[in-house]
Amino acid sequence: MDIKRTTLIYPGILFLLFAITGCDAQNKIHSEDYYGLKGKKMTKYEIEKSEEEWQEQLTPEQYHITREKGTERPFTGKYNDHKADGVYKCVACGNELFSSDTKYSSGSGWPSFWDQLSDDAVDRKIDNSYGMQRIEVVCKNCGGHLGHVFDDGPNPTGLRYCINSIALDFKAESEEG
Ligand SMILES: [Zn+2]
Repeated sequence: MDIKRTTLIYPGILFLLFAITGCDAQNKIHSEDYYGLKGKKMTKYEIEKSEEEWQEQLTPEQYHITREKGTERPFTGKYNDHKADGVYKCVACGNELFSSDTKYSSGSGWPSFWDQLSDDAVDRKIDNSYGMQRIEVVCKNCGGHLGHVFDDGPNPTGLRYCINSIALDFKAESEEG
């Protein structure tokens, strides 16, 4: 119906962009309303640090992903094929984000989960970069960029949280703390 002209003219370029920019975004995403983002206000995070402080705390690649919204290359992340039982935490602040119970093989090349661990785990933002609209997923505690969420995931949620391994830290079930 109201298809943007550019998507008709430049499908090749767009495809290339998807291939380069990471998390597969070729599926149509639902409206802002669906993700509870309609009219959403700016969020203040529990942990607020200056860019200098983050740079000091994080490795250069962790900083790039979490603070500069970077994307690791597909099939390179250490948690892509990771199958142990436990909890995936935010690498920047330790907030518990995802359980191995909701991890599945999406074939995308990034760790994929069909649900967040709790309502306190992640926050969502509209991301209009690269000429498309995606839903960015950030840590609800520190605002660090984690990845994106799409609506082509498995039941029961139908969601696919496409997350960078570099933004995660894994805690095995048997470990303390
Ligand atoms: Zn965090």
